[in-house]
Formats: sequence, C-alpha cells, structure tokens
Amino acid sequence: MLKKTSHFMREANFIGGSWVGADSGAMIDVVNPATRQTIGTVPKCGRTETRRAIEAAEEAFHSWKKTSANDRAKLLRKLHDAIMDNQEALAELLVMEQGKPLAEARGEVGMSAAYVLWYAEEGRRTYGDVVPSPWADRRILVTKEPVGVIGAITPWNFPSSMLARKLGPALAAGCTAVAKPASQTPYSGLAWGVLAEEAGFPAGVVNIVTGSASEIGDELTENPLVRKITFTGSTEVGKTLIRKSAGTVKKVSMELGGNAPFLVFDDADVERAVEGAVAAKYRNSGQTCVCTNRFFVQEGVYDRFVEKLVEATERLKVGSGLEEGTQQGPLIDEKAVEKVEELVADAAEKGGKVVAGGKRHALGGTFFEPTVIAEASPEMRFMQEEIFGPVSPIFRFNDEEEAVRLANDTAFGLACYFYTADLGRAFRVMEGLRYGLIGVNEGIITTVEAPFGGLKESGLGKEGGHQGIEDYLDTKYVCIGGLGL
Ligand code: ADP
Repeated sequence: MLKKTSHFMREANFIGGSWVGADSGAMIDVVNPATRQTIGTVPKCGRTETRRAIEAAEEAFHSWKKTSANDRAKLLRKLHDAIMDNQEALAELLVMEQGKPLAEARGEVGMSAAYVLWYAEEGRRTYGDVVPSPWADRRILVTKEPVGVIGAITPWNFPSSMLARKLGPALAAGCTAVAKPASQTPYSGLAWGVLAEEAGFPAGVVNIVTGSASEIGDELTENPLVRKITFTGSTEVGKTLIRKSAGTVKKVSMELGGNAPFLVFDDADVERAVEGAVAAKYRNSGQTCVCTNRFFVQEGVYDRFVEKLVEATERLKVGSGLEEGTQQGPLIDEKAVEKVEELVADAAEKGGKVVAGGKRHALGGTFFEPTVIAEASPEMRFMQEEIFGPVSPIFRFNDEEEAVRLANDTAFGLACYFYTADLGRAFRVMEGLRYGLIGVNEGIITTVEAPFGGLKESGLGKEGGHQGIEDYLDTKYVCIGGLGL
C-alpha cells in the first residue's frame, strides 16, 4: 500500500509494539540540514525506557526464536515489499532529515529492501554440522541458534540502510532487537517500527528508541539481557562500546571510521579513474566511511588526473536534495563544516594548492563547495583524519612500493580503491593493501551479496554476504552418548 511521507514520520518511540513518548515528556528537535528548519521532534529517552525496550525484546525472543526460518522469511519478504511500495515516501523523509540528493536516497532505500530480502533467504541457510564421531556410541551435532536480544546503534549518514544491514540478519536469525538511530536522523530509523508493525512482526521483536546516546548506549551495553551490540559510527564511540560490552562479554560487531586511499597508477585509464573518483569521493557529499579520503596519483598521470578531476568537481550541481538534478547536498551540521574548513586551512598552510572550491558555498548554511587540493603531503591532517566532506586531497607518488606504503600508513583499514591496467600489479597491490574492501578499477563496490567490513581500527565483523548473519548466531556443540551402537 502506498503511504505518504508523513505516515512514516513518527514523533514517538516503538517499544513492545506500542508508540510511546519519553517518561519525562522531553523531546529533541529534528532539523532539515538544507533549510535549517525544524521539521519535527522525537522523544528524548534514557536508560529506563531503553531497559523497558530490552525487556520487551527479551519477552518476544522466547517465542520469536521458535518460529521457523521459513515463517520469518515470509515476514521479511513482506517487509521488503512494504519498503519498495513506499520507496518514494521513505526516500523523501530521508532527504528531509539527512540532506542527500533524492536519487541517492532512493538508492539507499532500495538497498535497505535488498538487505531484507537477502537475509530472508540467508536465514534459511544457517546450516550446522554433523561431525564424524571419534566414539562408536556417540554422535556429534553442531547447531546454530540466535544469540538473543541485540542492540543496534546507527549513524546519520545512511539512516535507513545501516539499520537494514543489522535488522535484516538479526530478524532472519531469530533475534529480537532494540535499535537506536542517530539523533540527527531519527525518522528513517523510526520508520522501521512502522514498517515492521505493518508487515506483521509480533510486538517486541523490533523496538526503536531515540534520545540520549550515552544513556541508551550505557543501558544497551551494560544490560545482561542484550547479547550482542552492533554499531556503525566513529572509531572513538566504537571503542567505548567495545569497552563497555566487555563487562557482560557480549558479541560485538563494529563498522567504524575509514581513511580510504585511491591509487591511480601511470598505466591506468585516467578517464575511468576520474569517473570512479567522483563516485567514491562525492557520494553523500563525502559523508560516508568508504569515501575516498586521500588520492595518491603517480607522477606520469598526476597533472592530467588533477585537471580532469577539477573539471568534474566543478560540474557538480550543489543544492537541496529535493531539487531535481542535485548532486551535492548540504553537510549534516555546522560542526561538520567547521571540521572541513579546518582541514582545508591546514592543507593550505602546509603548501597544498586549492584548485577547486575550498570554502563555504554561496547557498549558505551547511553547504560547502566541492573541493580539490593538489600537492597534498603526508604532514597534512587528512593523511590521518577522516574528512567526511567534499574535499579531494591529491598526493603524488613515484613507484608502487611507495604508494602501498603511504596507503597503509593509517590506523584505519576499511575501503580502498586503485586503478591500473596491469594484472600483475593488480594482484601485488591488492595483496599489499591492508583493507577489508578493495575496488580495483571501480569506485562504488558495496552490494548486499558481499561482506562489508573493515580491518584494523575500522572494525570487527562483516555485514552483507552470507557472512553477515554469522554474528547473530551462537554455535552449540551437542554430544549424544549412550547410543549402544
Ligand atoms: P558520527 O561522528 O558519525 O556522528 P558517532 O559515532 O558519534 O558518529 O555516532 C554514531 C551513533 O552512535 C549515533 O547514533 C550516536 O548517537 C551514537 N553515539 C554517540 N555517542 C555514543 C555513546 N557514548 N554511546 C552510545 N552511542 C553513542
């Protein structure tokens, strides 16, 4: 059934199958970053409401885990259809609170539905093992069971699909969930409550709370009923959540920060590399953890690459995400713009050349000009820090060994990209890069079929692929003896 955007914009939390407010009645404003206007409010909940949501999830878990994978798949397929039937309304809601261009928002909502469908299928394939027994009269079974209640904390840059990657496998595995969306973009998170209710999920299987991040986070990590924490966000907050989860030894999966390098070798197809660069850098105005943070370009093609990237960057249409043809929306908030300004100033001071953009956009607010900085060097802050904005610093390199060394010189290890036409080099570089996701001659590689996840301080665990459901399952070993065989 087709619904209006306003149908999904709930100014309440979803706990135990009811739409409720905070105990205190407190609310948080939600602002449209393109207009800076408040579009609504959501409850400011804390520990007590979160505890209630966890208890509702635990109660629901007892019966939900006993449903068959096939029955859960049927509900997940309904959820998928409900998302796709309302793709336009959900995409508009996403643009209103997040700012990204409508075309990107439609893509994100489509991706959310795709994760749900993928895990509807994968949930039916959580095979165990029957292991050859070393004892004549005993048999060994290995089974997979849902971990229990999971806590999911998600960021504002992909407020719909980051929850899909967590709720999809959790529900398919037989877990129940308490989710906390980011305060900047709560409606796309709360919409999952509306969708789950309408698809027919039993009360308490999906719970959504908004409010104080530290209070909700503390309850989710400290409550022993929660058996797993899944988080997407900054490395700093991820480390805190891992530390806090240690108290009750929960499973954790973490999708944390990135510092993606993008290498262009002399033998690369430069046109293709520029096309990939624009996609890998400017999607969501540079606000994704897999966005290129550092371009490394070999001497022989450096000038040509810079010239062509500048042309492509200057062609990007900046505006409100709801306007037709917009390619770059606003940044999420003022703090994000200040960080980008600081990084650009730092680069300029250290010899960087601003060859495109470089300042706040004439549209005002949190709009920033898509920017290219040539002659970037390793002392600049963006060698180590995530930019999370539309800025392309371009470093030079001489040879392959130097390029791989520079690319790996970071605590992060999420996505990386490189362009070459040499097959031997493709394998050498692929094997040399310490990253969980590698695009070879491709700038956009995320898909539900493949495992997404970082190495080093970029995270733990995988989302997507058949691997993505593993983190929601416990493995049990059963030894059956006295069989008298
Ligand atoms: P970003 O820098 O992208 O906003 P954060 O890591 O700060 O990333 O936020 C990602 C998610 O983590 C959001 O939902 C945010 O509210 C939440 N969060 C922030 N601080 C905490 C915390 N101390 N405990 C639990 N969740 C937190």
